[in-house]
Amino acid sequence: MSEAVERERLDVDLLFVGAGSATLAAVIRLADLCKEQGVEMPATLVIEKAEEIGGHQLSGAMMDARAIDELFDDPVKEGMPFEAKCDYDAVYFLTSKRAIKLPITPPPMANHGNYAISLSDFVKWLAEQAEAREIEIYPGFPAAEPILEGDRVVGVRIQDRGVDKDGKPKGVFEAGPEIYAKCVIFGEGSRGSCTKSLVDRFDLGGYNPQAYETGIKEIWKVKPENHRLGRVLHTMGWPHDPTTFGGGWLYDLKDDQISLGFVTGLDYDNPYTDPHDNMQRFKTHPLISKILEGGECIKYGAKTMPVGGYFSIPKLYMNGAMLVGDSAGTCNGERLKGVHMALKSGMLAAETLLQAIQKDDFSAETLSSYESAWNESWAAKEHYKSRNFHASFKFTFKMPRWMGWARQLPWLANGQALAIPTGGRGLFKQVKAHPDHTHMKKLSQLSAKERKKAEKVAYDGKLTFDKVTAVALAGSRHEVDQPHHLKVADTDLCATTCAEEYGNPCENFCPADVYEMIPDDGDESKKHLVIHHENCVHCKTCDIADPYAQITWTTPEGGDGPDYANM
Ligand code: SF4
Repeated sequence: MSEAVERERLDVDLLFVGAGSATLAAVIRLADLCKEQGVEMPATLVIEKAEEIGGHQLSGAMMDARAIDELFDDPVKEGMPFEAKCDYDAVYFLTSKRAIKLPITPPPMANHGNYAISLSDFVKWLAEQAEAREIEIYPGFPAAEPILEGDRVVGVRIQDRGVDKDGKPKGVFEAGPEIYAKCVIFGEGSRGSCTKSLVDRFDLGGYNPQAYETGIKEIWKVKPENHRLGRVLHTMGWPHDPTTFGGGWLYDLKDDQISLGFVTGLDYDNPYTDPHDNMQRFKTHPLISKILEGGECIKYGAKTMPVGGYFSIPKLYMNGAMLVGDSAGTCNGERLKGVHMALKSGMLAAETLLQAIQKDDFSAETLSSYESAWNESWAAKEHYKSRNFHASFKFTFKMPRWMGWARQLPWLANGQALAIPTGGRGLFKQVKAHPDHTHMKKLSQLSAKERKKAEKVAYDGKLTFDKVTAVALAGSRHEVDQPHHLKVADTDLCATTCAEEYGNPCENFCPADVYEMIPDDGDESKKHLVIHHENCVHCKTCDIADPYAQITWTTPEGGDGPDYANM
């Protein structure tokens, strides 16, 4: 119906899609540069799909202050919200019962002096700083698709409101306006839907495809005696097996609260892998359960992060558009940090925008200076130091099973140990990677031990929770009578080929119980897919992990989604 209706048209000079760290840093930097240089600030608009600014922002988050210290003279004096400054960090290797503390914290995981923040609060504060510079920000405005004229991006169409589940307008129908701009800056976060279509359309992909992890985060209120402000713990090992990438974190926050999380690399091979279940299991480890004992889980969230690193960064510009932050894959997976990189990418984009404004030229040629500036920046150098870190994990898959955890040695050697003396290179100059979803094995290829992963941890409702409870803690809300925003290309394939080959892994990888295979008229041998789109927490895991790559995440009605306020 998007074709048939008449739409309002808005025109601005610069349009920023997504109000996150990268886009807000960009508008703040641009406003400051224009003021310094006596250039008139162009008409600028930031749009955001969440109902409230910060409402869809989720991260650990342990922030390196390098970029924010460049953006503001004294961010803390200017009111930057933060929870704690790290003064103690440790990394543990977990077995199912034991926690072995590494004798030294590997330098990439060192966090002394870094800030524990709520990304949602931080972004809200950045938005206030932008508004103080007279930047307009519209929440509840989800970009449905980019608008192109030839090979040029000229704007975005906003998602319609008031369409029923069959695609027909309801009484409250509002056609999403089209917003046109001289330049559109996409900062939609990880696996942004407009960004994905532009990367495909203009073939912007890097040397490697982007790689992702799904992070599950919970906020716990714990007993004061179990709390230690300034503490930062990271874990590797259990409950993952050697072929699954990822690990856990625990950061203490104010008011006896704790940020607890577990990440699962989406290049896993076992179709029974369940990022939510991994998180629940992680909490049962004695290292974690004794800290949580007597406490209460008060919030839940899930989000993917792009961790492919240096060789997965796409081309950052095209005619009339640029990519910033997680949409550009700037997150540093080795350090488990993305906020400082996102801020820096936004600031560099702003510097290029100033040149483009002065020339009134937003062609790819002019915007290419953003990519050159990125490549010269400390942020790109930080990425370069760990350029083969994630891709080297594929060596683990190639080692024989009997080697157990020793299978990770080639990865650790090439991705970390050799990377330090060789300036990030390791033995191999550029390790080639493949899309995450291509790593999944078929059920017929699983060993008896691997099949055991189908068993979920027991959910006791105190320490461990099922997905339905998790969705409630995420505050996710969607209008039920609207078209599914999860587009599954061929649901027959789910019921037949996928059921047989992979056992419908969507039921495992989605942390919000969105996908459910339901028996046809009670016949367990024949099932069909039901999509509970109203549960979705916008993590984008399904768009990445589906082995047939046939799920496309799109934006629902404006304002719908999780509520990550204070997360
Ligand atoms: Fe995440 Fe997809 Fe599930 Fe939504 S449907 S919660 S995006 S995996």
